[in-house]
Amino acid sequence: MLPVIALVGRPNVGKSTLFNRLTRTRDALVADFPGLTRDRKYGQASYDGFDFIVVDTGGIDGSEEGIETEMAEQSLLAIEEADVVLFLVDARAGMTVADQAIAQHLRKQEKKVFVVANKTDGIDADSNCAEFYQLAMGEVYQIAAAHGRGITGLLNSALQPV
Ligand code: GDP
Ligand code: MG
Repeated sequence: MLPVIALVGRPNVGKSTLFNRLTRTRDALVADFPGLTRDRKYGQASYDGFDFIVVDTGGIDGSEEGIETEMAEQSLLAIEEADVVLFLVDARAGMTVADQAIAQHLRKQEKKVFVVANKTDGIDADSNCAEFYQLAMGEVYQIAAAHGRGITGLLNSALQPV
């Protein structure tokens, strides 16, 4: 059985871009409009020798109140069925209230969660990402999904046998 990796995070952080990078397809919708990918989307990935199933989600709407409404059903299901959760945040936008709400939910799950700061291209990544350590979810992995940066290192940790 291949490990299942779920991509979770508020809209527009780059989940679908990472999905496409990992699966090397254009199947997942990538758009400037938040929340366009409404359903779970599965892809089989073979990336740098790592074989896994990746699940894209689009259902978290941080503008609502309460974690149950913030995390749409599809995202909740994706988390449940995943072996590993990649919790994407936006290094350019910085920490948001939605990020903190999602983190609070993820902390209650018995899942391996990795905080992934995307869009680190063309910025001072270390200083932009520092605040995400406040989530207290361990290492903050710096990537640029659009450029393929940092992904191999992330997978090396995320797919390490426990
Ligand atoms: P999703 O809503 O989380 O699925 O986000 P998308 O994958 O649709 O991406 C949202 C926006 O962020 C798009 O305009 C992407 O081109 C942009 N984006 C995604 N990854 C990167 C990245 O690594 N660097 C930069 N600069 N922009 C990115
Ligand atoms: Mg998307």
